[in-house]
Amino acid sequence: MNFCSNCGARVNRQIPEGDDRPRDVCLSCGQIHYENPKLVVGVIPEWRGRILLCRRAIAPREGLWTLPAGYLENGETAAEGARRETWEEARARVDELTPYALFDLTFVNQLYLMYRGALISDDCQPGEESLEVGFFSEAEIPWNAIAFKVIEETLRRYFRDCKDGGFPFQTGRIHPPVRRD
Ligand SMILES: [Zn+2]
Repeated sequence: MNFCSNCGARVNRQIPEGDDRPRDVCLSCGQIHYENPKLVVGVIPEWRGRILLCRRAIAPREGLWTLPAGYLENGETAAEGARRETWEEARARVDELTPYALFDLTFVNQLYLMYRGALISDDCQPGEESLEVGFFSEAEIPWNAIAFKVIEETLRRYFRDCKDGGFPFQTGRIHPPVRRD
């Protein structure tokens, strides 16, 4: 941030009094602009043993497959956000949502909360941000074309739990992808 969103004056990176880390502090109005992690909410939409995936129409990872997920909006509950993302990306409706997994992605300052949700029907079609949508059993999942590590981890744990016959709440930390360039 270069300019204050409150008054438009220049901000300075400094440690405010009583704080322990640098913040953008407005030199004019004194506003401290805190930046905190964002919450991403998503769903594992299930229909008769298969999972609904979306192929991304947008960057990053255009053309790769993912679960419906996105940033929670202000004024929304986490479950409402997860439902909205399922509708926006796959034009699908889920029944009751059950919290399933929480993943820390500190390298991008994100926290992922993924729900399990049974679909109301198999009605679905690609939303604005998807090229196509489809249903996949564990064997059919395009494991080499999953857009994000956190989504792959969610799916792996989900299918493992399907076999184990229970879905205990999952937590974990996702590490940055290894660059190969
Ligand atoms: Zn200001």
